[in-house]
Amino acid sequence: MYNAVVSKIRELYSVDKGFIPLHVPIFMGNEKKYLNDAIDSTFVSSIGAYVNKFEDMMAKITGAKYAVAVVNGTAALHIALKLAGVKQNDEVFSQALTFVATANAISYEKAIPHFVDVDEDTLGMSPNALKKRLKEVAEIRKGVCYNRTTGNKIAACVPMHTFGFPAKIDEIIDVCNKYHIPVLEDAAESLGSYFRGKHTGTFGLMGIYSFNGNKTVTCGGGGAIVTDDKQLAKHAKHLTTTAKVPHKWEYAHDQIGYNYRMPNLNAAMACAQLELLEQFIENKRETAKQYEMFLRDVDTVQYIKEPPHCKANYWLNALRFSNEQEKENFLEYSNAQGVMTRPVWRLMNRLGMFKNCPTGDLPIANALGKTIVNIPSSVRL
Ligand SMILES: *Cc1c(COP(=O)(O)O)cnc(C)c1O
Repeated sequence: MYNAVVSKIRELYSVDKGFIPLHVPIFMGNEKKYLNDAIDSTFVSSIGAYVNKFEDMMAKITGAKYAVAVVNGTAALHIALKLAGVKQNDEVFSQALTFVATANAISYEKAIPHFVDVDEDTLGMSPNALKKRLKEVAEIRKGVCYNRTTGNKIAACVPMHTFGFPAKIDEIIDVCNKYHIPVLEDAAESLGSYFRGKHTGTFGLMGIYSFNGNKTVTCGGGGAIVTDDKQLAKHAKHLTTTAKVPHKWEYAHDQIGYNYRMPNLNAAMACAQLELLEQFIENKRETAKQYEMFLRDVDTVQYIKEPPHCKANYWLNALRFSNEQEKENFLEYSNAQGVMTRPVWRLMNRLGMFKNCPTGDLPIANALGKTIVNIPSSVRL
């Protein structure tokens, strides 16, 4: 069976013997042209026409009113949390199954991640697990949500759309609204993914995206914050631009700001890549269809499909094995064969720095953590 899966991957990527990576960037559009243009303009740093163009494109693509370009997805999360009012010793709900950046960003403000379970069908935050955990620990005092067992404010909730599969974001928002908790979507992996026709990252107060080298489209490193709130967008721009008060020559800054701006060089590349987004996603969805059809007849492994009412970007294709040993065997076999596969991230609550963080029950995250593997998912040329 492992052999058949590996052969199918080789067939799909038309690589008979060589190494097949998990996910590589593809540059086939205006990348070099726009980069040259940015260099010729001398505006290579954080002011330039491509930064503005990138922000306009992101707003258009996601349907958000405003987009702010930043240096990477982690910085985007950090600023979104700060703008949502997250402070030291506040608790921020997120999911145990996520990339470490989600939990890291929460920690930058000395807030405490509080991990809940994910859903089996979406791999994203489970609204039921969230509801159950809030029922266990939360109380509302004067319109503010607190953890009554720790006394800490519950200041935000950060669901993540795992591998580009949209989480049940409408239900998550409903639960959070009842508890007056702002939702910040970690949509780093889900550019081009839609939940009931609306782009992921645009449901909560703010959403963030990443343009790191391994994401669906990349500019080497980059990020974006989107929101419909004009003041938040303005504030995000200000905070990420060293909080400089606009003036023709004076250097005045009205708070401790950050140098989190996206350079115009990266923005040039990002614009070129965004022009290719639709084409990339069509390509990736065709690959997904091929994987799905092939794996339909393989009963020891389950292919993870997009949830109903959703359109996923299929950033990374995922297999679920029937047990941990099967998963280990497949990882060993495929990697030895030169086909790169890798297990899902270690659960956040099992990393040393987050092991004492509060968690709800995590039966699904525990099961998925042992059995999920990502397989090659690059755009096929
Ligand atoms: C990639 C990623 C990030 C961070 O993005 P960077 O641009 O690498 O900082 C955040 N969250 C998730 C879930 C990611 O996959």
